[in-house]
Amino acid sequence: MGLLERMTCGLAAGLLGLGAAGAQQMAITFDDLPAHGIKPPGMTRVDIAQSILGTLEREHMPPTYGFINGKRVDEDASSLAVLQAWRKAGQPLGNHTWAHIDLNDETPQQFEAEVTRNEPLLKQLMGDQDWHWLRYPFLHEGDTVEKREAVRDWLFAHGYKIAEVNMDFEDYLWNDPYARCLAKHDDASLQRLHDTYLATADEYYGVFRQLSQMVYGRDVKYVLLLHIGAFDAKMLPELLALYRSKGVSFVSLPEAEADPAYKDDPAVAEPTGGAGLELMMKKERLKFPPNSKPYKELDAMCR
Ligand SMILES: [Zn+2]
Repeated sequence: MGLLERMTCGLAAGLLGLGAAGAQQMAITFDDLPAHGIKPPGMTRVDIAQSILGTLEREHMPPTYGFINGKRVDEDASSLAVLQAWRKAGQPLGNHTWAHIDLNDETPQQFEAEVTRNEPLLKQLMGDQDWHWLRYPFLHEGDTVEKREAVRDWLFAHGYKIAEVNMDFEDYLWNDPYARCLAKHDDASLQRLHDTYLATADEYYGVFRQLSQMVYGRDVKYVLLLHIGAFDAKMLPELLALYRSKGVSFVSLPEAEADPAYKDDPAVAEPTGGAGLELMMKKERLKFPPNSKPYKELDAMCR
């Protein structure tokens, strides 16, 4: 899109009053249902899910997809209650492969079998509602272009849509240190986890908006990746408040993914995976803006 065209679109959006409700739109999604990360002492998987579901309801959030790995239910039948609670709250479920496998290590046929193996559970829980959304584990979409395209073709032929991500701050990094710090009653570290989680979410909100500007010259409709972890549950009210303070309004996954940007296939081989915008950056050979995450600090905390 040329500059003039972009300006015209901006003007039209302004005239229609689209700016008022929040210029940026975002869907939030949760991965790894029913079980993600270490459980803090005395907390169950259902407690974590109920905390998230309670926040979604209080905050009047649009339907929020949770992406499931059926194998966890096979390993621990009690975790089925998490998926049932999700559905009872009216929230939809999608496919994250049976055993959270890594496409880098699999043939397309093996990957497709893992997607299929998850389907009876999805059908059982979702009935005639739309569970044909696939979230790639580790955001690994294929380490060769051939593998990437073979899996995409299979998914589309089987009625799947790809639940592409383009807003990500690696929220999962905080869940395990949180469980450790709670067990140690380390209040100073817990405060530090709180502060760095929000600061990193804030920084990457800016980074991904920059990527969106670089690739598309506008804000795409964003899809945020979160995980069903204890710290994500605790932080969700403040995280939503942070995004709202920046003018974000929340939409459902299908609404966000209706953005034409999601029709683009970057068609790159990327073993380390990444959000859609990151893959587009790679395709366009664009340089990533500066960014940082406290990997080492989080990993060392409360050991
Ligand atoms: Zn996952």
